[in-house]
Amino acid sequence: MTAANFESIISCAILLVHYVWLHLETDLNGDIDIAVCFRQTSDHFHGLKDCIIVAHDVFTHTKWAKLLLYSPRINLERYLIVSQPMSDKLESIFLHCVSCGIGAGSAGNASENNLSAIRRLVIVLNVICISSPDIESSGLLPDIYRYLFTWPTSGRISTKGFILQVCEGNPASLKILLYYYAAILRVYTDKIWWMRDGATKMFNKLRSKLEGHCSQCIDIPLALLAVPEQ
Ligand SMILES: [Zn+2]
Repeated sequence: MTAANFESIISCAILLVHYVWLHLETDLNGDIDIAVCFRQTSDHFHGLKDCIIVAHDVFTHTKWAKLLLYSPRINLERYLIVSQPMSDKLESIFLHCVSCGIGAGSAGNASENNLSAIRRLVIVLNVICISSPDIESSGLLPDIYRYLFTWPTSGRISTKGFILQVCEGNPASLKILLYYYAAILRVYTDKIWWMRDGATKMFNKLRSKLEGHCSQCIDIPLALLAVPEQ
C-alpha cells in the first residue's frame, strides 16, 4: 500500500464519521438504539487505529500523520494543571453516581468500563467548567472539539464494555453519555456543525429517560454545563 492509498482510506474513514453524526437514527426507542448510535460514531476511530498500527510505516509518510498523532489531551491536561484549581466537584458527582446509579443502583455502575469512560470525560468537562463562560478565549476550543470528536477511543475493550453497559441500560453509563452530549452542546459552534443534530437528539433522549431520578446525579452536573444566560 502506498502513502497516497492510505491517505484516501483515512480520509474516507473520517468522512464516514461525519456522515454517521449527520444521520444518527431519529427513532431512539430504547437503550439498544442509544448504544447503537453511540457505537457508530466511536467504532470508526478504533478501526482507523487498527489500520495505523498494522501499516505504521506507511502511515508516517501520509499527510495525516502529524495531525492524527497530535494529542489534544496534552493541552487540556496542561491547562488543568496551571488553572486555578477547581474543587473536584465533577469527580465527586461521578463518584456519587457510580454508587447511587441515579437512585436505581446497579452492580455494574462502578465497573472499570464506566470508570475508564469517566476518567477520560472528566478531563474535558473540567476544562469546559473552568474556562466558562468565555471558553473561546482559553484558545482550547480546537482541542476540546478534537477530544470530544474522538472520545472515548483510548481503549477498544473498555469502549466495547461501555457500549454493552449502555445496551443493558446501566444507569451510570447512560449518565456518562448524557454529560458527553451535554458537553458537545455546551461548546457548540458552527465549526462542529455536523455534531449538533445528533448530539441534540441523544441529549434529549437521555435527559428524558434519566430526569426525575436522583437530582445529585442529574441536576447539578447539568447546571455546571449549562450555557450561561446572555
Ligand atoms: Zn444519585
